[in-house]
Amino acid sequence: MDEPDVTRFAPSPNGPLHLGHALSALVGFQWARSGKRRFLVRIEDIDPQRSCAEHVAGILEDLDWLGIVSDGPLRRQSEHLDDYRAATRQLEKMGLVYPCFATRGEIAAEIRRRAANGVLTPADPDGTPLYPGICRDLPQEVVERRKSAGEPFALRIDMARALAMASRLANGLPLTFLAEDDAGNLVRRAADPSRWGDAVIVRKDTPTSYHLAVVVDDALQGVTRVTRGEDLLAATDLHRLLQVLLGLPEPRYHHHALLRGPDGRKLSKSEGAESLGQLRARGVTPAEIRQLIGLPAR
Ligand code: GLU
Repeated sequence: MDEPDVTRFAPSPNGPLHLGHALSALVGFQWARSGKRRFLVRIEDIDPQRSCAEHVAGILEDLDWLGIVSDGPLRRQSEHLDDYRAATRQLEKMGLVYPCFATRGEIAAEIRRRAANGVLTPADPDGTPLYPGICRDLPQEVVERRKSAGEPFALRIDMARALAMASRLANGLPLTFLAEDDAGNLVRRAADPSRWGDAVIVRKDTPTSYHLAVVVDDALQGVTRVTRGEDLLAATDLHRLLQVLLGLPEPRYHHHALLRGPDGRKLSKSEGAESLGQLRARGVTPAEIRQLIGLPAR
């Protein structure tokens, strides 16, 4: 029997949901309900500083109010840290990650030093300057000494090595991803993870990162179609690299257009977008929410 298609909505409980989240959740949920497909909810609560139980409760209440039902148990990333540790060990065994002790200040200073010498550091797709490689080639004894002194460290992917390994694993075929549009048409697009440089794969403050956790979970939850906003389009390049390296199945990707405020910027909590809870409190109905985000009333 064929396994059903599966998609998911994966909010980070760092604040209340707004209309942009409602769009993402409803796009995935409607797609699942328009066929014999499954829709799952995953709480991406790996950030110990920003995630909180109150926001998780708020998210579940909002989804319930919108009539969105998960077809499987809720997965909370904070309860599955061992899964991310196992994936990290795999990358370590392959020699593709290295400890990075550098602080933000040290990284910024190195970038300034290079600029003063006329070497400009390119930015990643989020606009952050690429990591300048400070800890890439630390001698093993220095790593051991700093680790045993209890210095906090992140793990970064050695992008050059990882790309070479991925190419070997794919028999030299270029890295790509399958993009799916609203009508279900599939287009294979090039993926270029090198634009993220030696990205952080395990953070200093939590035993994973968004990128690692998302690919591990999508595989463990049997997700066949990733539905999310187009702000995460560039992250897909890195996700495909990790999937190839870890031997995980390849999902298709549906990146929907973002809702934008009157100023053309994407809605966000930090820019003060009204939360779904606030909209509900002033009497807006779920049907009106659908209208506000441009979906048919049903
Ligand atoms: N947790 C991410 C966010 O809230 C979404 C992750 C994803 O859909 O891949 O932005």
